[in-house]
Amino acid sequence: MFHKTRKKLSYLYATFYFLLFSLFIIVLYFSLVKLMENQQIKELESFYLKQEHDFFEYVDDNKKILSYDPNRNYFYYIYTKNNSFVHGDESYKGLKTLLEDRFINDNPAEDVVHHVEWEEQHFLLLKKPISYNDEVVGFIFVGKSTTSQQHFFQKVSQLLVLLTCISTILIWLLSYYMAGRAMIPIQWSFDKQKKFVSDASHELRTPLSIFYSSLDILELEESHNLSSLGKELIVDLKDEATLMKELMDNLLFLARHDQLQSPMHKEVIQLSTLLKKTSTKFQKIMPSEIQFCTQIEDNIELLGDTTKIQELLYILLDNAISYSSDGKISLTLSTDHHIVKIAVADNGIGIPENDLSLVFERFYRSDTARQRNGTGLGLAIAKAIVEQHSGKIYVSSKIGKGSTFTIEFPARTR
Ligand code: ADP
Repeated sequence: MFHKTRKKLSYLYATFYFLLFSLFIIVLYFSLVKLMENQQIKELESFYLKQEHDFFEYVDDNKKILSYDPNRNYFYYIYTKNNSFVHGDESYKGLKTLLEDRFINDNPAEDVVHHVEWEEQHFLLLKKPISYNDEVVGFIFVGKSTTSQQHFFQKVSQLLVLLTCISTILIWLLSYYMAGRAMIPIQWSFDKQKKFVSDASHELRTPLSIFYSSLDILELEESHNLSSLGKELIVDLKDEATLMKELMDNLLFLARHDQLQSPMHKEVIQLSTLLKKTSTKFQKIMPSEIQFCTQIEDNIELLGDTTKIQELLYILLDNAISYSSDGKISLTLSTDHHIVKIAVADNGIGIPENDLSLVFERFYRSDTARQRNGTGLGLAIAKAIVEQHSGKIYVSSKIGKGSTFTIEFPARTR
């Protein structure tokens, strides 16, 4: 139980950390990218501003020149407002045609920024109008290669992902360790409490047996001296003592189960035969208003403790009888090679939907069940027995319609 909580806590911490750290990394990464991009746009702008006057002259003269300078950091192409090329610097051969195809028809009167990917290279492109006397006379594409920055950011992003993964694993391990340490005092007091319950129920059994035997003797030896009220009181006291003994036995079983001390006598159980015998027994004590039917597949075996499996069946069938005054109860056993399935269904009072997750808790009793005898430990014991056999137990129920308790055990491999 504590191991599960410890793991859950570690997963929770690690998930929170992962989400927060990822968010931080994403914000940091995109801020850096944006900062770098703004810086580059500023560089392009300042290149443009420094040469603005010349650009205008090119447009004005309409001299068509395409120069080439491999050492220049920037490239630029100047156009008249009618999209006719006049001057430029072709550092990347072929790029001009691509830019014309894609962006020449953008509104020439506005600044536009583009990211261009071309032959595995990346470029930042600024399209700016060229004005003279407040009139747009042409426009310019000015750009620069950002390939090396792209590669740098690719590497940085890979590194950040790796860093996030490694630090999340480290945080998980650290949380696991810290959760373990935080649980030491809780585990200690829980163990003490379990030991107390176990010792108390064990110690109370002997005086309770003596009490019961004394009542028996009183009933046998002194009945002629007792008034009818006295006799009635003895019967009531014996009932209460029986109930208390049952409660003690159940508490002791659960305490031992918690301390992993509940002994298991494992053997191959002929489950089909056991279920048939049990149903015959129950058939005899079943109230006549209840119709009991069984559907038991033959030759199903299970590796487990016969007494405990029998107790499990008693608990479920007993509940089915207690919580259905009339109607139908069914017991089915089936297998599909991997799992052995037992189902006990009734069409009794049912369990409220909100309480379905609570029925296997110790001392849980629904409000409607309180008028009937019971301790609220039966299903907790049933669950403990199923867990001891590496199985699962679950319930489906509708109020007023009935309940079905299903148990699944792993099938025996030969
Ligand atoms: P008990 O029967 O002694 O009260 P259990 O642990 O066996 O304790 O059951 C816990 C509670 O689950 C019951 O008090 C009852 O409210 C509910 N319950 C169990 N079985 C059924 C059933 N077949 N139909 C309706 N309610 C049920």
